[in-house]
Amino acid sequence: MLACLVERLVADNDTDSIPDPEKSVDIHGVLKDLNIEGSIDYGVTAISLGSTDFGGLYSEKPLAVIRPAGADDVVRVIRRALESPTLTVAARGNGHSINGQAMAHHGLVIDMKSMADNNRIDVNVNFMYVDVGGGALWSDVLKHCVLKYGLAPKSWTDYLDLTVGGTLSNAGVSGQTFRFGPQTSTVTELEVVTGTGEKIVSSNSQNSQLFFSVLGGLGQFGIITRARVLLQPAPDMVRWVRVVYSEFHEFSSDAELLITNPESFDYVEGFVFVNSDDPVNGWLSVPLDSNQTFDPTHLPKKIGPLLYCLEVALHYNKHEDPFIVNMMIEKLLGKLRYLKHFRYEIDLTYMNFLSRVDHVEEAARGSGIWSTPHPWLNMFVSKKDIDAFNRIVFQNILRNGINGPILTYPLLRSKWDNRWSVALPKNEIFYLVALLRFSHAHPTESEINQMVAQNEEIVQTCIKNGFDFKMYLPHYNSTVEWKRHFGDQWGRFVNRKRQFDPKYVLAPGQKIFTRNH
Ligand code: FAD
Repeated sequence: MLACLVERLVADNDTDSIPDPEKSVDIHGVLKDLNIEGSIDYGVTAISLGSTDFGGLYSEKPLAVIRPAGADDVVRVIRRALESPTLTVAARGNGHSINGQAMAHHGLVIDMKSMADNNRIDVNVNFMYVDVGGGALWSDVLKHCVLKYGLAPKSWTDYLDLTVGGTLSNAGVSGQTFRFGPQTSTVTELEVVTGTGEKIVSSNSQNSQLFFSVLGGLGQFGIITRARVLLQPAPDMVRWVRVVYSEFHEFSSDAELLITNPESFDYVEGFVFVNSDDPVNGWLSVPLDSNQTFDPTHLPKKIGPLLYCLEVALHYNKHEDPFIVNMMIEKLLGKLRYLKHFRYEIDLTYMNFLSRVDHVEEAARGSGIWSTPHPWLNMFVSKKDIDAFNRIVFQNILRNGINGPILTYPLLRSKWDNRWSVALPKNEIFYLVALLRFSHAHPTESEINQMVAQNEEIVQTCIKNGFDFKMYLPHYNSTVEWKRHFGDQWGRFVNRKRQFDPKYVLAPGQKIFTRNH
């Protein structure tokens, strides 16, 4: 029965155009007697999970999906892959990559989200940290820490159904990053299984090379099986505010003022929207509540095709005097030059604020657009080039919007550690630019291709204009492009790979290295 299944999988894979020596891998032979506490799944459903991601643009079938019980299972799987001349291993977090980064063509996918150890979320109240499995979802970490202990991690992503290991392999950014750095800066210890099959605990002072390599390391150096994340007291409430600008330089200088001033909001983000009544890209994307309206008659007469929204939030506790909270908000907003008729605010619990994307997901699932392809593009652009980027990319290439949010907000390079593997632009202030594209429920291939082509046009425009930028959640197909991405850090990245994964077993879906013998 199992043999038949394997034959069927191999037959399926025969339709792939890439010639691949792994077609001859007898996966049952390779994994025979592999004594793991978790499970190995060769079934169609598991293979289908391992060969899909949120991007929906790529599909690479693994030979099997492993559901580990804990780190020791991960060790066993990697050691077994090392015995084969060709097998690769990809940790899959929640598969929220865009370009197949968590896939392993004819390799093994480790489904980290199903790791039984994720259920152990251990909070240390005295030292204010939480030990959490690499496959745990940040949404579960939030619930556990806030509801049981009134504590919370300091730095978040906008959307929380991402795994701890998945975001730490990139950075993990949101509106708190300007203050605390990305999620990678709030981690003090990692348990990692390297590409040599060793389970190693690392930190700033213990096995520090591995620690810094893995953070932002695109899964290349080891699989994160546990992370120690710093906590702080969680506030009860959040005042969430949006204000609108017609001029980019006013929007950006106000955002920069907020991120560089010690007295500021607890969260600073921003987005670009279309100056029209388009329900997805336009004015309606700004109000925070159904009883709020956007009245375009108050807009200045001469404005361009786009407007800008600064999104900020202030934490407070229920026992605090509302007068003081209001005063603080007025003081902070008073320094800003937004259009006075366009200010929106609501109060909500801290948990609801951090889970604010849930209802977007629910609606998108309902209309079918959560499961259609998402050619998203994320970049970091230096402050020195952001005005030109606004003119050439936002106001020209993207003047009609992208059928989804266009996020842009500044971050501080000094909050990022140069020893991490992540590549950044050179300026102290750089902007996240996130094009979170959605399609309609039944997009044609040509519609998706147009979105991909527009992304490519934007990247080429940045190169042509000599912009100082880096891709965030990068995706390239050639070594030349990866070398350019890492720039003068390429040598360090390659050395780290040779040290921690010398046979290039891990994270093949990133397409940086090819498995060697
Ligand atoms: P996967 O996509 O499963 O894996 C990503 C990479 O990490 C792969 O190469 C994989 O092999 C590797 N990996 C996975 N787990 C481990 C592990 N335990 N150890 C080592 N390597 C591992 N990012 C932000 O920074 N901020 C945001 O606000 C944000 N919002 C998002 C919202 C949505 C709806 C989506 C789809 C993505 C968002 N992202 C955001 C991007 C997200 O951070 C990345 O997709 C990231 O990869 C985490 O996703 P994941 O846990 O599903 O990892």
